[in-house]
Amino acid sequence: YSKSLHNKEDLSMAYKIGDACISCGACADECPVECISAGDDIYVINPDECIECGACNSVCPVEAPQQD
Ligand code: SF4
Ligand code: SF4
Repeated sequence: YSKSLHNKEDLSMAYKIGDACISCGACADECPVECISAGDDIYVINPDECIECGACNSVCPVEAPQQD
């Protein structure tokens, strides 16, 4: 947890899921570190665990996961 706070650049580059998300769950299945989970309306990425691999963006039908 503290590693991301130590490195602000890492934190700012984490992927974030936007409003286009249709909650299909494909990204959560694909994420190698399992840091994506279902939220209230859309899926959410834990920025402290995201390794910025881009797999979620590649598999998403609406390209909702983007880097800030
Ligand atoms: Fe998971 Fe990779 Fe997407 Fe980060 S970029 S949420 S590690 S699939
Ligand atoms: Fe949402 Fe895209 Fe993930 Fe499906 S793959 S849950 S649409 S972010």
